[in-house]
Amino acid sequence: MTDEGHGTLATAYRTHTCGELRAEQVGQEVTLAGWVNRRRDMGQLIFIDLRDRHGVTQVVIDAAESPDAHEIASEVRNEFVLRVWGSVARRLAGTENPKLSTGDIEVRASTVEVLSAAKTPPFPINEPEDTDETLRLRHRYLDLRREQINDRLVKRSRLLRAISDVHHRHGFVEVETPILIKSTPEGARDFLVPSRLQPGNVFALPQSPQVLKQLLMIAGFDRYFQIAHCMRDEDARADRGPEFTQLDLEMSFVSQDDVMAFVESMVTEVTRAVVPDRPIRQTPFPRFTYREAIDRYGSDKPDVRFGIELRDLGPVVEGSGFGVFDSVLAAGGRVFGMAVPGMADVSRSHVAELTELARRAGAKGLVHLSVESTGAVASPVLKILGEARAEQIVEAAGASPGDLVLIVADRDIHAQEALGELRVALGDRLGLIEDASELSYVWIYGFPMYKWDEHLGRWDATHNPFSGVVPDDEPLLTTASGDPSRPSPQDPAGQARALQHDLALNGWELGGGSIRIHRRDLLERSFALQGHKLDGMREKFGALLDAFEYGAPPHGGIALGIDRWIARLTDQENIREVQAFPKTGTGSDLMLGAPSPAEPSQLAELGLQLAPFPKSS
Ligand code: ASP
Repeated sequence: MTDEGHGTLATAYRTHTCGELRAEQVGQEVTLAGWVNRRRDMGQLIFIDLRDRHGVTQVVIDAAESPDAHEIASEVRNEFVLRVWGSVARRLAGTENPKLSTGDIEVRASTVEVLSAAKTPPFPINEPEDTDETLRLRHRYLDLRREQINDRLVKRSRLLRAISDVHHRHGFVEVETPILIKSTPEGARDFLVPSRLQPGNVFALPQSPQVLKQLLMIAGFDRYFQIAHCMRDEDARADRGPEFTQLDLEMSFVSQDDVMAFVESMVTEVTRAVVPDRPIRQTPFPRFTYREAIDRYGSDKPDVRFGIELRDLGPVVEGSGFGVFDSVLAAGGRVFGMAVPGMADVSRSHVAELTELARRAGAKGLVHLSVESTGAVASPVLKILGEARAEQIVEAAGASPGDLVLIVADRDIHAQEALGELRVALGDRLGLIEDASELSYVWIYGFPMYKWDEHLGRWDATHNPFSGVVPDDEPLLTTASGDPSRPSPQDPAGQARALQHDLALNGWELGGGSIRIHRRDLLERSFALQGHKLDGMREKFGALLDAFEYGAPPHGGIALGIDRWIARLTDQENIREVQAFPKTGTGSDLMLGAPSPAEPSQLAELGLQLAPFPKSS
C-alpha cells in the first residue's frame, strides 16, 4: 500500500498510520489503530501485523514486559480492530523486512485495546489470491480492504483529483446536472423512474448529460466539465456495466482541433499524475481516420502497440477463380489479409482454433497461406489460386519467410473487423507487445455520420445524434429521393462525415465526442434522416431545438469513461475491478441485494401494477 504524501493523519485514536513509522522514530511513544493482518503466537512473544490502508506495522507483545496486553493479544484474531500503545524499536539485525515500508522497525506494545471483534472473513484479506467473484462482491467491504483493489481505488481518486485540477486551471466550470431527466438518445435502453406526483409519467436516468451540457453552452458556460454518473440499461461486458462514470466536458467557440488539443494535453497530464512510471507511447497522439483504422487494424479503437497490419488484397485476388473471393468481390465486398510473424508452421489444430476465433468475430471462414523458410508458399487453397497468384498475395500481404498469411473475405467492413479481432488475440498470444507498461492513446476521427440500419430500414447516427457534419459534406444530408421519410442505403447521407472524435487507449475505446450541430434546421434535418417525425422530435428534444433559436454558440466536447480509463491504467480487464461497488454481469448488487421486489404499498403510491412475470430460475 502506498502512502500518499499527505499531512498528518493523527487523530484521537492514533498518532501515526500503520504505513508511516521509520527508523527515525525509534524511541518514540506512539499509538496505532488498525486491523489484525496476521498474528503469530510464539508463546511469550506475540507478533501482530497491524494493517490500515497506508501499510502494515509489526507489533510485538512481550508477556514479560506487558502481561495485560499479552493476554488480550492472545485472544485476537485476523481482522479484529485494535488500538495499540507502544514504543518504536529498531528490529533486530537480520529480521528487517525490506518488503514493508515500515520493515526496519517494530512497535513494542505496552497496551492493546480491542476496538472491534471480527468473525473469520469468508476469504483471506491478507493474500492477493483469487477468490470467487460472487463472494467478493457479496462482501465487497472486505474485498476493498485488500491491498490490490484498495490501491486501484486510490489511483482512481488521484485520477479524479488530477482531472479536477487540470480543468479548473483551464477555466472550466464544474456543473452538476440532474439525475432525474428525460430520455437522452445515446442508443441504449433507459432506466425509468416513475413519478409519484404525476402518475403515468416517468423520468429517465441519464445515459449521459448530453442535452444538458449543450444547453449549458447556450447558457454561456463556455467551458463545462463534470464527473457524471450515467446509466444505460444494457447487458454488461468486461468494459461496460449498467452504471458507469464519465468525464463529461463541453466547450464553446471551438474547432474540432481545439477540443482534441485540450483533451490531449489534459489526458497526458492526468496520466502522468496517476501513473508517473508508465510511458506514453507517442505524443502528439497518433490520429487515424475511421477508414484508415478499419483498413489497417480492423478496429475503430486500434491497439497500435504491435505491428501486424491488414492489407487490402482485393486487387491481387481479383479474377483468381477462387469462388469465395470472386463472389465476395462481385457483391462489392472486400478481401483483406495480414501477415503473422513466425507462424508459418502452424499446426492444423491451431488453424482450426484461429478459424473458430474468426467465425466468432463474424467471418464466414479463414484462408491461410504459409511462407516457408525457403520462400515457397504452402496452403490448402494453393491449387485453386495457383503458385504465381499465391506469391503475389504473399507479397501484397507484406509477408516474409516464416510468416503465416491469414485472409478473410466479406462484405462491407466485416472482413477487416474479423481480422482485427484475430490480430489482437494473436498479438497477445505471441507476446508482440514489447513494453506492456506503455500507454498508447490514439485518436480516431472522420467517422461516417450515419450507418444504415437494415432492420429498421433507416439511417442511424454512428455515434451521437447531435454530432455535426464536416462542413463540405452538409449538402449530403439528404436522401436520394429528396424525401427524408423514404431513406435508402444508396442515399448521399451515407457518404457524409461527422465531426466526431474518439479516443482509444491500448485497444479500448475510452470515449468519444464531437463538434455539435448548433442550428435548429440542420438538427431537424439530421433527425429526419434518422427516422424522427417532426412531432416526435419536438416531444423528445424540444428544449434543445428551441434553445438553438436563442443564440447558440458553436460548441463541441467529449466524454471519457472513467472506469475504462483507470482499468487500462491499472491493467485490469474488467471495469468491476476499479469500481468500489459494482453490479454483477447480470446487473445485481449482491451486497445490498438489489434490485429487490417493490413493496405493494410503494407500487400503489406510484399507481403501478406489475404484470405477471415468469419466475426466473
Ligand atoms: N454524450 C456522448 C456519450 O456519452 C459523449 C459526447 O458526445 O460528448 O457517449
